[in-house]
Amino acid sequence: MVTVYIGLGSNMGNRRANLQAAVNMLRELPDLQITAIAPLYETEPWGLKEQEPFLNTVIQVETAYSPRELLSFLQEIENKLGRVRKEKWGPRTVDLDILLYGHEVVDAPDLQIPHPYLLQRAFVLVPLLDLDDDLTMPDGRFLRDFLPAVADQKVNRISEYLV
Ligand code: ATP
Ligand code: CA
Ligand code: CA
Repeated sequence: MVTVYIGLGSNMGNRRANLQAAVNMLRELPDLQITAIAPLYETEPWGLKEQEPFLNTVIQVETAYSPRELLSFLQEIENKLGRVRKEKWGPRTVDLDILLYGHEVVDAPDLQIPHPYLLQRAFVLVPLLDLDDDLTMPDGRFLRDFLPAVADQKVNRISEYLV
C-alpha cells in the first residue's frame, strides 16, 4: 500500500456536491481507502482567470493501485460526473489530480508525479499541509518551505466539509 494525495477541484454547478460525489465514488474502489480529507477552500481561478471561483481540497488515500490504474479510475469518475474538456484550465464539474504518490516520480507524456504545478499553487499546498505539515517532495524538499512563494494567492477556508 502506498500513501497518495489527490487534489479535488470544482467550479461548476453545486461544487461541494460534485466533490462529495467524487469522494463517494472513490470509496467504491476496492483497493483504495480514504484516510484523511482536508478542509474545503474557496479559491481564485489559476491560469485562466475569467471563470467562477473554485472549491478545492485534498484527500489522503492508501492504495494498492499503480499510478496509471489510479489515473484511469480518476478520469472515469470525472467523466461520470459530467466533465467536458474544452479549454485548458477551463471550468469543470470535477478535476481529480494525483499530487503525490508515495515518493515515486513519474515523468511520462500523460502522467507526471509529483503534479507539475504542485509547488506553485496555494489551493494545493495549503490543504496538503493541513493533512501533513511534514510532507516532502520525493527529493526531500519540504512542501511548507514553498508556502511563502504563493502567499499572494487567495484561498479561503470555508465552514463546510466533505464527509
Ligand atoms: P493541470 O494538470 O495543470 O492541473 P488540468 O487538471 O486542467 O490542468 P486536465 O485537462 O484535467 O488538466 O488533464 C490533462 C491531462 O493531464 C490528463 O489527461 C492526464 O493525462 C494528464 N496528467 C498528467 N499528470 C497528471 C497527474 N499527476 N494527475 C492527473 N492528470 C495528470
Ligand atoms: Ca488540475
Ligand atoms: Ca486534471
